Amino acid sequence: MFNVVIFGAPGSGKGTQSERIIDHYGLFHISTGDVLRDHIARNTELGVIANKYISQGQLIPDELMIRVLEHHLDNHTKESEKGVIFDGFPRTIAQAKALTELLEKRGTQVDAVVGLEVNEDELVTRILKRGQETGRSDDNLETVKKRLAVYHNQTCPLRQFYIDEKKYHAIDGNGTVDSIFEKIKNNLDKIKHD
Ligand code: AMP
Repeated sequence: MFNVVIFGAPGSGKGTQSERIIDHYGLFHISTGDVLRDHIARNTELGVIANKYISQGQLIPDELMIRVLEHHLDNHTKESEKGVIFDGFPRTIAQAKALTELLEKRGTQVDAVVGLEVNEDELVTRILKRGQETGRSDDNLETVKKRLAVYHNQTCPLRQFYIDEKKYHAIDGNGTVDSIFEKIKNNLDKIKHD
């Protein structure tokens, strides 16, 4: 298996680059944001809880989020045979430690973390544009500011966590989709062939 975490602030291009990585490496995409939005659309019990946090720009509590991820992994073992790209998970150190354990139990590990690094002005511009194009409810200026603050306080420490584990690959996420994907590919190809 080849497991990749795509990491970065809201609006850094995680979803877009995940699609390219999936096409190229045949990985299974797990976006925890998409999983939660699907629950909200179906008005499930989890969807009702998730909506409260998402609309406030806050993170879903770790314990619940980890259970949701484990359940999703277990329901997609066949599709995940070649590996998984984790998009939007982990977002806290507790989630990162849980992911290590979940994967260890399944005889595998995180092979690489792709960190998309984009300056803050560009992030806000991209998110507001996405909000206009898709109608995504948490892509408005007020919620974006909260999401960026949450990112800096709770998610950013993961960068150092994965640098210490020698898994972090910093990618300049400014530029065209193609040029950014080329840089990602250069990094991932080196690991795949080691
Ligand atoms: P995303 O689509 O990844 O930007 O996620 C949208 C929202 O879903 C986030 O702002 C959080 O409220 C929630 N969410 C997604 N993934 C996680 C996670 N791993 N932990 C906690 N909350 C999450």
